[in-house]
Amino acid sequence: MNRELNNDEIDYLLLHLSHQAPNIKILFNQHVIYTNHSTCNDTKKIIFTCSSYPVNTVHLEPIDQLPVLFPVSNDLTRWYTLTNNGTLIFHHDILKSAFYILSGWDEAHSTDADEHGRFPHTSSLLYQLDWLGKPLVNYYFEIILNGIKEYLVFHKTHLDERKPFNPFACFISHDVDRIWYHHPREAYWRFKQLLGIDVCLIPRKKMFNECLNDLKYFWRYKSKDPWWTMDYLVKTSRANGMKNTFYLLDQSQDKQGSRYAFSNPHIQKWSKNLTSPLAEVDIHAPYATIDKPDSLKETIDHFKAAFGRHPIGVRHHFLRFRYPDTYLLHESLGLKYDASFGFAGKPGFRNGYCLPFMPYDHKANKIINLWVIPLNAMEVTFLNYEKSGWKYFSDSINTMVDETMKFGGVFSLLWHNCRFDEKSFPGITDFYSKTIKSIHQKGAKGILGSEIASHMDSLTSGF
Ligand SMILES: [Zn+2]
Repeated sequence: MNRELNNDEIDYLLLHLSHQAPNIKILFNQHVIYTNHSTCNDTKKIIFTCSSYPVNTVHLEPIDQLPVLFPVSNDLTRWYTLTNNGTLIFHHDILKSAFYILSGWDEAHSTDADEHGRFPHTSSLLYQLDWLGKPLVNYYFEIILNGIKEYLVFHKTHLDERKPFNPFACFISHDVDRIWYHHPREAYWRFKQLLGIDVCLIPRKKMFNECLNDLKYFWRYKSKDPWWTMDYLVKTSRANGMKNTFYLLDQSQDKQGSRYAFSNPHIQKWSKNLTSPLAEVDIHAPYATIDKPDSLKETIDHFKAAFGRHPIGVRHHFLRFRYPDTYLLHESLGLKYDASFGFAGKPGFRNGYCLPFMPYDHKANKIINLWVIPLNAMEVTFLNYEKSGWKYFSDSINTMVDETMKFGGVFSLLWHNCRFDEKSFPGITDFYSKTIKSIHQKGAKGILGSEIASHMDSLTSGF
């Protein structure tokens, strides 16, 4: 990005700043100049110095512990100065820094992809800066607003502020990829492993017991399926002030498809008993969507036929999407929000922001009309990718929750319904319920995906 921000990009930032400071746009119009000259006039006395240079990847000392992505002045000790005559000068291009990270510039301009076609966390600038664990954009916004507040106090006025989610919210969701451990296809696969036709993924003795359990289940000696945990998830949330959003994956012929259809009678009966507004169902987009956009349209049609309404939000199976192309697709299909924006291999704040945001189409230079709820953590990351143990898992969630609380944001946790396997992960059920409880004790309010989208609409109305 070897140019300064244009007016549309500044507007994009103001839209997001307005969720904390509702009158920020009026204030910018009246008081702010974005310029490469340190000049001001009588009325416009807030100067944001601009940079037309690319992002700075050479190590520089941070200011207030924040990386200086677009340095302008030689003064690397402070972000801004309020002069004796009441002029506020930002010494480095902090607006461009915030825009660059928030709008996903590096991701949108990268061709890096992992084996599933996803942008890998190792290619992200925030990962390279060791800033995935904290919401950098919220910290940039804090500096901007602090400077403006000092300026307004000098001029004997003040800035109206609010916490977007007061005190903060916790969004718990579940991707329902599978509903029956003892499904004939799952059992067939296990028997193939036991007989050596497929690679056996666990010790053969264990596999023998699993196959025995399959047989018992089919002969009705054992009727409770370990993957049908949705009632447990709802019950645990109720006991801890949380809500549940379930993303259902429709049956498809591809290898990554589910083993049930939206119209499945068990799913229909269960979903009808969910109590609004404590739980809801929406769509889990098929694996193929990234290459075959029509498959999402088909999924929406199936959802409408089975549930009698248009879906509101979506999460992509395997978190497999492309920024911003997939979001343009969501916008065109009338979806209100996406909940896929997280790295499968690493927990954190993918675009340095702990609040829902609107994606940006850099090519068309426009905001995409969709809310993206960043995904901070999912159990698979800790159990399968990082394999880092309960303590790291718990510390990592605690840190992110504390950071989210600081800014009145939304902490998003994904936990698959099929991940309560005590044999592979002893203590996992207890760990889950304690995690939910501790987030609630910190003051989080449970919220549904659809409620987040509506709340963001209301915060944005009038902008
Ligand atoms: Zn999935």
